[in-house]
Amino acid sequence: METKRTFKIAVLPGDGIGREVLREGLKILNHMGQQFGLQFETQEHLVGGAAIDSEGTPLPEETRTACLQSDAVFFGAVGGPKWDDLEVPLRPERGLLALRKDLDLFANLRPVFCIPELVDASTLKREIIEGVDLLVIRELTSGLYFGEPRGIRNEDGVEKGINTLSYTRPEVERVARLAFETARRRTGRLHSVDKANVLESSQLWRQIVTEIGREFPDVELIHLYVDNCAMQLIRDPKQFDVLVTTNMFGDILSDEAAMLTGSLGMLPSASLGGTAGLYEPVHGSAPDIAGQDKANPLAMILTVAMMFEHKFRIPEGAKAIRDAVGRVLAAGYRTADTMQPGMKLVGTTEMGEKVLEELAQTQ
Ligand code: NAD
Repeated sequence: METKRTFKIAVLPGDGIGREVLREGLKILNHMGQQFGLQFETQEHLVGGAAIDSEGTPLPEETRTACLQSDAVFFGAVGGPKWDDLEVPLRPERGLLALRKDLDLFANLRPVFCIPELVDASTLKREIIEGVDLLVIRELTSGLYFGEPRGIRNEDGVEKGINTLSYTRPEVERVARLAFETARRRTGRLHSVDKANVLESSQLWRQIVTEIGREFPDVELIHLYVDNCAMQLIRDPKQFDVLVTTNMFGDILSDEAAMLTGSLGMLPSASLGGTAGLYEPVHGSAPDIAGQDKANPLAMILTVAMMFEHKFRIPEGAKAIRDAVGRVLAAGYRTADTMQPGMKLVGTTEMGEKVLEELAQTQ
């Protein structure tokens, strides 16, 4: 079977530092594409506040259609004080939420790995986090955040807030299968996190994950209650490789896991599901430092590594990017968010250039 070499990529810079870090990410993407003989058809589209200013909506139809027809969406960040007073449906962040839904991105992947040079940026002890390399897979389009009925009601004079936690078999099967496939490509160990001792939806989750696990006899499956998982992530994060969990548990655990290794400016993510995956840094548009060449582009650059791993299926490309980032940090270069005494302070563009130079030297 011939491997796909040409990829259509929708480029959505968005607002604030989104645009600045995305520019550095694109340099790395194009360089690595050349190295591995890939062709990229990239086209830029409006989203978020930039789209509101120009088109009056955070997700214009043209952007939506282009994303649906792409192999991947390369996304910066959206939002900013300029649009904070708009009604909720018109706010920039709505553009991202609508896109996730339209692209059927049912799994959010957040890798957390310890970069030795940044160990001291963590609030945990060196011996706990050195060597951490885990991946949280969060179900993204169902569960408590989407269940019906929902709302705030008045019943017989008493106010009542309602949300519904439900999962269907197909919803669990697809995210479980993706998690097993991902675990198989890593070290072959998968933790499924639920609250099956209390919740029926978790009992079904556990049953289905166990069933799917029979298709993957080479992957070790371990079930864990969410409260225990929250504790284990802090106590001994190195026991984890891939974790898969429901929408709300994943929301909380992925933030907890992310903070094991320090700065927001270092954390990439990928949301997978339909044909086009969405690749974006975890951080937002950082209005406080936008336009000052202060943003750390490494989260965005590491997001390119995720694209190589999950979209292009070239793990050695992903590794080359991660290694180059490691070497730039080892050489002492830091943006302001990760600056430490004795290190060399660089801006967004220079940090991007340093990674590019490292990649160019080693290939
Ligand atoms: P934020 O992630 O933008 O910033 C939080 C803090 O981290 C700020 O002090 C910022 O300067 C710093 N920071 C973030 N990324 C950095 C980077 N790459 N390098 C250096 N420092 C970095 O979160 P916020 O301040 O809560 O939100 C700002 C805006 O971004 C809001 O409008 C919010 O809704 C939006 N937002 C968007 C996304 C997204 O597009 N995915 C995610 C989160 C927040």
